[in-house]
Amino acid sequence: MTKNAVEAQKAAEPAATGTGSGTIELIYSFDRSQLPKQPKQDPSRKKPDNADDAVKKLCKGNEKFADFIAQCKGHDKPRPVEVPLALREIGGIPKPSGFPAQLPFAAVLGCVDARAPVELLFTQGFDDLYISRIAGNTLGPDCSGSLHYSLLSFAALKPQKPKGPTKPTPSVDLTKKPLRLIVALGHSDCGAVTAAVLTFAKLKEDLEEVTDPPKLFELEELLDLEGDYLPDDSVTGLLTRIHHPAVAAALDALPVGSLGTETGSTDLHIAALIDLAIYLNAAWSANQIVSLVQQYDYADADVAVGVRYGVFDPRDCRVRAGSENYGDTKDASDSTDGLLKSFGVAPGAGQPGVSVACLLPPPADLAGLRKLATEIADKIKARGKTKEGLRDLAKHFNLQ
Ligand SMILES: [Zn+2]
Repeated sequence: MTKNAVEAQKAAEPAATGTGSGTIELIYSFDRSQLPKQPKQDPSRKKPDNADDAVKKLCKGNEKFADFIAQCKGHDKPRPVEVPLALREIGGIPKPSGFPAQLPFAAVLGCVDARAPVELLFTQGFDDLYISRIAGNTLGPDCSGSLHYSLLSFAALKPQKPKGPTKPTPSVDLTKKPLRLIVALGHSDCGAVTAAVLTFAKLKEDLEEVTDPPKLFELEELLDLEGDYLPDDSVTGLLTRIHHPAVAAALDALPVGSLGTETGSTDLHIAALIDLAIYLNAAWSANQIVSLVQQYDYADADVAVGVRYGVFDPRDCRVRAGSENYGDTKDASDSTDGLLKSFGVAPGAGQPGVSVACLLPPPADLAGLRKLATEIADKIKARGKTKEGLRDLAKHFNLQ
């Protein structure tokens, strides 16, 4: 659909009523009027100048998408979300090679989970994001190599001085080096983090006291699979990366018994532990990416690659980070009162149009990770002090 057609359609739409058509419109648009004007120019959409602008672009994109999904679930007719495309990005500029150049402004280390489609949830188009996806979004050797490649190819690195005393150092063409940000993106209900918690948590002496904890599989069973069904230690290696230090820090901050000892408290504790570990795992992956990013020299400070982390929640399609907005997930499809109960957040947080902390810098070290673990765990524990709070927590973790 052309841009003009989209505008015309918007103008023709009736005001939102209580009876939407039931159609969800997510539109990839391209303005055909560009065609005769710029046959030889590069008509890329402008890329962010620096890491902060890249963070703003992604957070704004997520807010747009989450608001759109909230409107779809609600009673109002949702306004279409438009993702503009540029001619070059869809192969519209003939080149000798025939391929459009790759010019991403951000790289994302995400999970393989099908419920977390990265471009969609950030409302980005072609050639915006360079994405590595692996179960549990951990920085193993393969993803590390892919991110190294993104830095070498797309980041504005300081040019190497050519050999010879008289030759000047070449300048960096920033339009060809647009990468300004790498994001580690986790997501709620992550199967890989759940497996890491359920296998390794049982090894902790504390949890051995718990009666009848839910179990996915034992570590010993997992090791037995190696050789028969698994070619190497890829699964155990991946779970180990999640366990240390994310699951370990989550267990320390949210020990057994911190959500009471009544019936159902074990399930609640493990669900909270998994959710906390998901935040910590994303934060620690980002911490590891910082070490990788710091191996390079950038052309100047303004174009240095920044690193952030966030956690996507498929229930309300918002990305969050840190402890401030933890637990404010809302679901407009909930039929009881229109919204899922949240806990411990300011009124209005999580509702359409209300900003949340989308992407934040990772903790600098293990002490910082433990601090984050304590801040989130304290919010969970504070809410779990009353019967009503425990009910809200159970609903939040989908146990009711
Ligand atoms: Zn996952």
